Amino acid sequence: MATNRAAWQEYDRWNAVVADVLFPELDRPAPVYLDVEDHEIEEIGARVGVNADVVVERLGEVVGSTIDRNSVTGGFKDHIERVRHWQNGPQEAVYPAVAALATFSLAAEQMASGDGLSSSNYYGRLANLLGGSKGRLHQSYMKVAEPLWAGLNLWLDRLDGRRGTPTAYALGKRFVGLPMSQALVREADRRRLEQFFVDFDLAPRSDIPAAEIEPLLTSWFRREHQTSHLGKLWAKASLRERFAEVAAVELRSWDGIDTSDESDGGQSRAGRALLALRMRNFPKQHVQLFPFFLVKEPSTARSAKLAVDSGDVAVDLVPAVEVDRAMVLGDGGAVDPASLLGGVLTVRDSAGGEISRMPRGVVVFRDDDQSSLRIETTQVLMGDDIVILALDRSTDRLRQMLADVARPGWTEDVSRSGLPEGWTLFENVEILARPANESGVHNDLRALIPLTSSQLKLTGGLSLPGASRNRWHSARPPHVRAISDSGSEFTVRLLDLGGDLSADDVVVDEWTDDGSGSVLVDSAELQLDDGHYAVEMVVGSAVTARREFSLHSSETRDEVQWSRIDPIVHDLGDPLAVLGAGRPGEGASLVQGVLVETAEIEGPVPAATPPSAVWWKPRNDQARPKGFNLRAPEVGTCFYTGAHRFDLPDARRDNDPRRYVSACTQCGMKKTFSGSYYRNATQYARRHEATEPTPRIDVRSLPPIPAGDADQGISWDVALDALRYLGGGPMSALERVVRQIEPSSLFLTEFVATLEALGHLEVRRSADRLVPEAWEIAPTAIVDTRADRVLAGYWPPDLVADLEEHCEQQRRTVSTARPGGLLTRTSTDASADELADWCQEDVLLARSAGYDLAAQLPVLSAVITALPRVPVTSHGEVQVFDPPSARWVSAFGVDTVGAYRAGRFASTYYIRTENDVAAGTIAVATAYLAKHWAAVTLTGKPLIAYSEKHSALVVPLGALLPGMYQRAVVLDSGIAPEVVRRQNHAYRDVSAAVAGRITYLLEN
Ligand SMILES: [Zn+2]
Repeated sequence: MATNRAAWQEYDRWNAVVADVLFPELDRPAPVYLDVEDHEIEEIGARVGVNADVVVERLGEVVGSTIDRNSVTGGFKDHIERVRHWQNGPQEAVYPAVAALATFSLAAEQMASGDGLSSSNYYGRLANLLGGSKGRLHQSYMKVAEPLWAGLNLWLDRLDGRRGTPTAYALGKRFVGLPMSQALVREADRRRLEQFFVDFDLAPRSDIPAAEIEPLLTSWFRREHQTSHLGKLWAKASLRERFAEVAAVELRSWDGIDTSDESDGGQSRAGRALLALRMRNFPKQHVQLFPFFLVKEPSTARSAKLAVDSGDVAVDLVPAVEVDRAMVLGDGGAVDPASLLGGVLTVRDSAGGEISRMPRGVVVFRDDDQSSLRIETTQVLMGDDIVILALDRSTDRLRQMLADVARPGWTEDVSRSGLPEGWTLFENVEILARPANESGVHNDLRALIPLTSSQLKLTGGLSLPGASRNRWHSARPPHVRAISDSGSEFTVRLLDLGGDLSADDVVVDEWTDDGSGSVLVDSAELQLDDGHYAVEMVVGSAVTARREFSLHSSETRDEVQWSRIDPIVHDLGDPLAVLGAGRPGEGASLVQGVLVETAEIEGPVPAATPPSAVWWKPRNDQARPKGFNLRAPEVGTCFYTGAHRFDLPDARRDNDPRRYVSACTQCGMKKTFSGSYYRNATQYARRHEATEPTPRIDVRSLPPIPAGDADQGISWDVALDALRYLGGGPMSALERVVRQIEPSSLFLTEFVATLEALGHLEVRRSADRLVPEAWEIAPTAIVDTRADRVLAGYWPPDLVADLEEHCEQQRRTVSTARPGGLLTRTSTDASADELADWCQEDVLLARSAGYDLAAQLPVLSAVITALPRVPVTSHGEVQVFDPPSARWVSAFGVDTVGAYRAGRFASTYYIRTENDVAAGTIAVATAYLAKHWAAVTLTGKPLIAYSEKHSALVVPLGALLPGMYQRAVVLDSGIAPEVVRRQNHAYRDVSAAVAGRITYLLEN
């Protein structure tokens, strides 16, 4: 029976409505389930124009009329055909099988609320919905279930979380398991799981195999919650595996806030105050320690009260740029680091209530896989990468414990800049085992006993920003780390999920643990192409954990993201365009990348003579003002003594299960659940007929962590290619890429400024605060530098290869070099005329862009006049720029003309001109602008030196030319500035004409 055209038209109408109702666009990415709740049924009914009571029945008929009921196994073959067609079509097209999957999910839901999980139940329900014979539906469904559900995941992945992140994964009983994973747990129940995460101190966004969650949930339900709706679901043993899978998915996206209990407005357990670390290497090794808050309404910046030793002070609470749904202080360095580790951290605000953190003698920080931050955790998991700060009194004990549980190769440091006296920093710690004698572990170190016993994770590499957190750059793919101390041998296999959804997955490679309990694979050695992959951990014939991931590069760019980019074009009619903060306009002088659209230049362009020698003597900045001190805990408490006080008796394996949670009355530290965990894990293992978890991994036999970590060395080139893959977007996405090269804010500023100057990147800054807001990869272009023609903007490798071929025909070459050793410069000796034909519309050719831009730019004083002004408020201790030593020195107040900086980590920069002093205002500026303006204003000399003989223009380190001034100089040569003798930056091959013009602009 061929299905008719009208049936498919009706199906498509329903499919579009069901897709929109079940997967609406979200403000922020969250896991989504194809689970049809009552309010959604109502909405679907309203949109398709049928009564809510009959929506399910009608949907069944509409889907039923598209299947071939006479076919024994091919009932859904038209659906598969349409999915295949969709897969090769545009990335943003709506997935055609949503309506069919909705009926699969409805059947699962009816079954779960009825007789429980069994295949015959399932296909019976499905036959009721769709019509036809149960047996044929069964056969037909088996044939398409996996590819149809995989297609749903692919659709959500392609949209990168805009309609939610995929959740339709099932490890066992895949056919019925897939719809069960969707329909089983209702929205309200999923919120309840947050309470479970809090009770077990699970770190937000952590990855735990579902098999590890199941015993934890068993303990949790045994203690309480048995009578809740959730508890009743849990009581059905056949549903537990699915249930644990849902919990694992939810934990992966959990933001650390428990919203399940709103009875007291959620105040009592809503937030957490933690510490976070940024390990900086630029310009020198330094550890930045700062407060980090998981708190309600994390996207709304607001003021809050911070409790310090002298009372309360007002601070700004702002969204953390690098981590979703978390907040930090506006000035990250507001609290003195020694006091942050040794004092009581308390903040209070109207939205988030009051949250506190008590100091601990051993503080554990976990690598956050979304950012380059390390975030405090109170409970490690097997396989975690951590950094530890320990008080002197704990270091001996800690070393002994690490010898037992961590992979060899961890390091210690007591002299790192930023590290307070009396604390030791332990780095490169990978937790790969449990301690031999758990009950002997000192309470200070309990956080280091892993709660779980196995892990399959992807770590390192260059991870690409995105909601699904499963994308990496193919030049820097993740390491695979699989660990299990269950004693059973296991295998890890890598699958290529490649091309066709309905084809079988291809096993690319396979590794066994040979009884060692761990498999560590550097996937870079496999030289994988861009594509979709999965790793699985297999014990016997059962898959116990699975992670999907995809690899990308600029050749397989993110089309959905690219289609949403707002082009960034600067109009020099507004002087703030020099800083990328001008208003858009119809002006005569537009700049985008290396493209400078200008009016005819009339008459001679004014120029001046630059200083011929370096006239400043660079010195180190003076130390910044010290931060606040927090209140210290009372003398004699556990922070000083290490003796924690528990109200309840210690956890013992044979205790009444209701009595084994207890928290220290002084610091709030919880005793872990490991005793009960092991009992549960044993029961779990028995039920699954695996060996009991008794042996432990001998970490001493593992290969040590290579010195100078192999993950380091994400080059500027790979980072730029990652940006080309993304195309553009919010600044947070760019930051997540760049901070993987180096986490410091100074580096980020320099990296962005350099890429802008080379015409690879465009950035739009806010007009009021001059902070970067959005970025985009500049159009594909070639800039003529006189000496050669240099590539700028979007150049994926296949396009470069194309150009090479063309140049070969002209007997010309394309060559690469790395001036300064950072970024590859690709250029050709073919002339502009020889390239003109090949370029046509797709590639833009810019001639003398450097000089043209310099000729069009406004003078510095015009930029200064256009800067946003704010009233002078108390800035407390600030620093002022001293041009002769090219450094920041301490200042009290901002009363006089000068360039100032306030704040400690990410500073804000200001300028006060004579007019500002008279008017009581202060101008918001950028670091580079402030320095160059201060030099001309205070000394009468521009902060540059130019050697005509060497065609080199020199500025102090950290004082690159601001904005478009730098772009004009760099485009003259296509060469990024280089560091000279660790004191200055030099721009090479700068013509006298451009140097003279820039001098004029700075002096006027
Ligand atoms: Zn304590």
